[in-house]
Amino acid sequence: MQETTIETESPASEGFGGMGLNATTLAALERVGYREPSPIQAHMIPPALAGRDCLGNAATGTGKTAAFLLPIIDRLDERERKPQVLVLAPTRELVIQICQEFEKLSYRRRLWAVAVVGGESIFRQQKLLGAGCQLVVATPGRLMDLMARHAIRLDKVKTIVLDEADQMLDIGFRPAVETILKAIPETRQTLFLSATMPPAVRELAQTYLRDPVDVRLIRDDEDATIPAIRQAYVMVDPERKFELLVRLLGREQPKRAIVFCRTKRGADRVGDLLRTEGLRAETMHGDLSQAQRNRVLHAFRSGRLTTLVATDVVGRGIDVQGVSHVINFDLPEDPTHYVHRIGRTGRMGKDGVAYSLVLADQAKILDQIERCITRELEADSVDGVPTYPRPRFRPERRPQGRRGFRGAPGRYARPPQRGPVSHQGLRRRRDREAQPVESGRS
Ligand code: AMP
Repeated sequence: MQETTIETESPASEGFGGMGLNATTLAALERVGYREPSPIQAHMIPPALAGRDCLGNAATGTGKTAAFLLPIIDRLDERERKPQVLVLAPTRELVIQICQEFEKLSYRRRLWAVAVVGGESIFRQQKLLGAGCQLVVATPGRLMDLMARHAIRLDKVKTIVLDEADQMLDIGFRPAVETILKAIPETRQTLFLSATMPPAVRELAQTYLRDPVDVRLIRDDEDATIPAIRQAYVMVDPERKFELLVRLLGREQPKRAIVFCRTKRGADRVGDLLRTEGLRAETMHGDLSQAQRNRVLHAFRSGRLTTLVATDVVGRGIDVQGVSHVINFDLPEDPTHYVHRIGRTGRMGKDGVAYSLVLADQAKILDQIERCITRELEADSVDGVPTYPRPRFRPERRPQGRRGFRGAPGRYARPPQRGPVSHQGLRRRRDREAQPVESGRS
């Protein structure tokens, strides 16, 4: 497999103009104000445009959507009103967001995309598909329903994209994804993208790709989070957790915050409690109807809502400008979820702050998160709520990571980091690299 190693002399220096994109696509880019390609765009667009399979792995919020949409839009045939490209994504919100980005980037092209998601009228989607489109963006469940009704044909699909590929290849989605792949011509181009790509999933991904270009901008042992995000934790007793959250929000005065909870019931409770404290908070999770989910996300995007209390349904991919704070009211059980949750802030070079509320018996989960992101979280406390030192465990040693990373250019640069990762190593590195970090407090 060919691997792309990131050199300091990145193709990004040539800009979008040197990639072979056509004039209409370049005009759309000009219109949306994307002046320079981000590293994932600089490295993925040329091979994807040439028809190669790609495995794109880059930090959250660094323009992965445009990295796969631009080469797709550039090659779509306007006269053919049958699905030529299929994009699969894990959540309805992400599907809708991809369609919105498509609309922006396909400016002045006679191209149509249909969002195929659960929770909305299947008849309406059937009608839209019947009217013809070049792109289908779908969650696997609803797409399978439409396939069972013979309401969609995938035999003209030339490119398939798996966004959040590690989740799409996870056991929950994999059977559906495999069925869908079988309905697509074998000669297809396949593009996989994600901020997190555990080695086992990476290996599995290879079985679906043909001689892929491996655009790996994050090493296995490297931080998949954005360096500019300040990340802290607070040790707290379970019965003081909510009080701590309220005081933390009072101290930080976030412009826009997402509070993550583990369960739907927990999110409802925290949302209710925050509203009784007078905060403009709403809850979002999988039990809400799609119309309610859209309404809450729209209110949050427009700024009418300052605090969104959510489960991991908004943990992946959701792009809301100006999220200043992410608070893990409950720690995620899977460390990769942490990466996606806090990736809702610090997007495209912006600053952000992430706090995690940790109970004494969760110190091990915190250890796992730190090993996953190869970064030690700062200990913090909030006036009026007692905290205590974090219990320490013997760190497990991770296998030696891959070498040869030279760092991406410009504002995306991250310091080279070397495995194996231990807490001692992390602490040493933090001391060595200690530098002032913007807190993002307003
Ligand atoms: P994504 O990681 O695809 O969710 O993108 C994160 C944000 O960056 C979105 O708001 C995009 O509109 C924006 N974006 C993507 N590519 C560029 C670019 N080259 N220049 C400026 N903004 C971009």
